[in-house]
Amino acid sequence: MLQALERPLEYLATDDFRRASETMLPLEAIATRIARARAASDVEQGPVLAELAAIVATLLERGGDPVPLLRRAHALLPRLRGETGGSAWREYRATDRLPDTALAILNGPVSAARGVGPKRSAELVRYGIKTVEDLLYHLPFRYEDRRQITPMRDLTIGIDAGTVGTVVGVREVRIGRARRPLLEVLLEDGPAHLQLVWFNQLGYFRTKFGAGQRLLVHGKVDAAMGVGALRMAHPDVTMLGSDDEPTTCAGIVAVYEKPTPWPVSAMRRIVQTAIDDHVDRVPAGVPMPVAVRQRLLDPARALRWVHEPPTTADVVVLDRGDSLAHRSLVFDELFFLQLGLALRRSTTAEEPGTSFPPSTRLVPALRTSLPFRPTAAQERAFAEIAADLALAHPMRRLLQGDVGSGKTLVALMAALLVVEAGAQAAIMAPTELLAEQHHETIRALAAPLGISIGLLTGAVKGAARRAVTAGLASGAVQLAVGTHALIQEGITFECLGLAVVDEQHRFGVLQRAALQRLGDGAAGLDVLVMSATPIPRTLALTLYGDLAVSTLDELPPGRTPIRTQLCRDGQRETMFERIRSEVAAGRQAYVVYPLVEESEKSALKAATTMVRELADGPLAGLRLDLLHGRMKPDEKDAVMRRFTAGAFDVLVATTVIEVGIDVPNATVIVIEHAERFGLAQLHQLRGRVGRGAHPGYCFLAVRGWMADETYQRLMVLERTTDGFRIAEADLQQRGPGDFLGTRQAGLPPFRVANLVRDTRLLAIARDEALAWLAHDPTLARPESAVVRAVLAHRWAGRLELARVG
Ligand code: ADP
Ligand code: MG
Repeated sequence: MLQALERPLEYLATDDFRRASETMLPLEAIATRIARARAASDVEQGPVLAELAAIVATLLERGGDPVPLLRRAHALLPRLRGETGGSAWREYRATDRLPDTALAILNGPVSAARGVGPKRSAELVRYGIKTVEDLLYHLPFRYEDRRQITPMRDLTIGIDAGTVGTVVGVREVRIGRARRPLLEVLLEDGPAHLQLVWFNQLGYFRTKFGAGQRLLVHGKVDAAMGVGALRMAHPDVTMLGSDDEPTTCAGIVAVYEKPTPWPVSAMRRIVQTAIDDHVDRVPAGVPMPVAVRQRLLDPARALRWVHEPPTTADVVVLDRGDSLAHRSLVFDELFFLQLGLALRRSTTAEEPGTSFPPSTRLVPALRTSLPFRPTAAQERAFAEIAADLALAHPMRRLLQGDVGSGKTLVALMAALLVVEAGAQAAIMAPTELLAEQHHETIRALAAPLGISIGLLTGAVKGAARRAVTAGLASGAVQLAVGTHALIQEGITFECLGLAVVDEQHRFGVLQRAALQRLGDGAAGLDVLVMSATPIPRTLALTLYGDLAVSTLDELPPGRTPIRTQLCRDGQRETMFERIRSEVAAGRQAYVVYPLVEESEKSALKAATTMVRELADGPLAGLRLDLLHGRMKPDEKDAVMRRFTAGAFDVLVATTVIEVGIDVPNATVIVIEHAERFGLAQLHQLRGRVGRGAHPGYCFLAVRGWMADETYQRLMVLERTTDGFRIAEADLQQRGPGDFLGTRQAGLPPFRVANLVRDTRLLAIARDEALAWLAHDPTLARPESAVVRAVLAHRWAGRLELARVG
């Protein structure tokens, strides 16, 4: 009943019931359910149900304005959910004692699951299913409704159907030149016949069928060759015993994503065997009061439901991933995510750190020497950072801002504040080239202020390297710019106060951990991470729940917007024409190819051939060069350096050209096979042009036929250059997993939650997690014992649980 009421009411409530008149509520069904609930429910819910029943009755009579009635009904929802008493919920069995072996078995290799041999297990591991638990959480991506059985005489070509019949003939034949084996089984039901065929699978099926055997088969009906009869190729077969009712064997069948060469049924069999054997080992860690309040199924029950739904389930709801079971699993996942984040946050908030006073000398001096004024957004972000630095706790802050929003300047201001207080600062970039670029920019701005700046990358060798490392150790180098070379073993700082990590999504967790280690001296290190991949606010709060966020939501003035154009096969000449005219005007261009995943070799070949084709064809006479993923870092850097210096006109790249690369003279970018890139990535690529005084052009080249979806997706880029809008759209389309790379963020991977779909649950989970921690801040109470164990299990090493009791 609650489900029937909750969704439409919550939906209508989102705009205060303005859509009430156009929306048809299934009032009759709701009335029946209320009546049923009143009959079954305890006294506590009685008054609420009575009032609801009255409201629904009035609505049914269409007496007067429905809006106040609906509002009232909506207001009753929390009481219905049992948020006052709620003793009536019995679907959640909390784990009160967790056997040591349970988690070990769940964490065990997938090869330990029954029915998974060495070959299959290798394939599963490659596919990303590594543990027994991964198998349990490999949820169906859709469901087939096989409750309907069509009489054989009603089958028609082209439909997917289930039908029942008796085997009247089994025959093996060899077909074609290759003498491929073919198994034919003829089914009969009264006067109707159906031929079943299997190619190449004799071994398994030959012994299975005998005359007189009754079968329930599902598959797509097509025409048998020659004979004019109907046929199913490779149907799903259920053997029926002599007194099995076919309807009890038909049901809702889960369909799984699987390694490609597997038959459909193999994955189902393996997952369902694992459910039978292991699902009761999955702990129910969400504390009982929370589970009751949120009306959850325990994970074991939920997993069973999701993998083997009862025949009474609603297939549409299952397909949407919106059943109570799905939502229970999602809540469970998000609850532990939020719990971990909250703990991580509270841990750093209480660690000791250095307090840096505001800058009175260097930052003001920098401001006066700048050829431009910092934007309001830059000043705001810097003020937020300065406030963090003033606290005696380590800073953990994310500075996000669109491509070109001027994050480097903010980082430099923060660094100067720390240097002025007598400590050192380090600014790190993900590649040598970017580090060198930062070094040059920063030296030009900061050296005149009397700051000593050092560059350390893998390319800095010999005496120069020794000089820098000595300077870092003695404190003579006040501001270090470099790559992760700065945080390698053996590098010591005299007194590192601040570490800035640019393009943080390209830094691995390991490097983040190494960074942490550097700060393990006397006081916690202040850390600022910067990202040009804007994250919608809700997500930022959640995913980087342990980071504070500053946002540069404004671009420096005077930028000319980039013109973006979708280019189909017929329009390719337009883009070549643009490249030629820009190069003629002294500008440069990029042509980018996606990394073809199947084979880096073929991508390389494509690009090498392309360079030749371009040079001989549309770009004849221009100077072209190639950058690809197989080149060594220093070879790549050499090419980029020559491009930056203007030594050639067109850079053809197979792999994503470095994020953050700044060649202001480049004004055109052609992105081939644009449909293969994500929106955020395309936006980053586009940001390579339009960085100088000249207008930029971006061509999204699409080859051949394009699905409408693809078109809509790419059109987002044509319409807007606002990174945040694009990020939202990208998130909607691809889901946050791809978008952020949870691994990179040091978060547990998401298995069931979809942060786009589940934002409401996310907020609830967050509130519940915080409330639980308010009640038990270090999870030391006995009722948190299982919570603690499950938390450690989920976060597996990603969480510093030192403070946890
Ligand atoms: P990103 O945020 O992409 O890292 P950068 O820090 O590289 O951006 O800045 C992009 C360009 O904008 C640089 O050339 C920088 O000098 C310039 N810039 C930064 N802040 C301002 C400002 N307030 N006014 C004008 N130009 C600015
Ligand atoms: Mg940058």
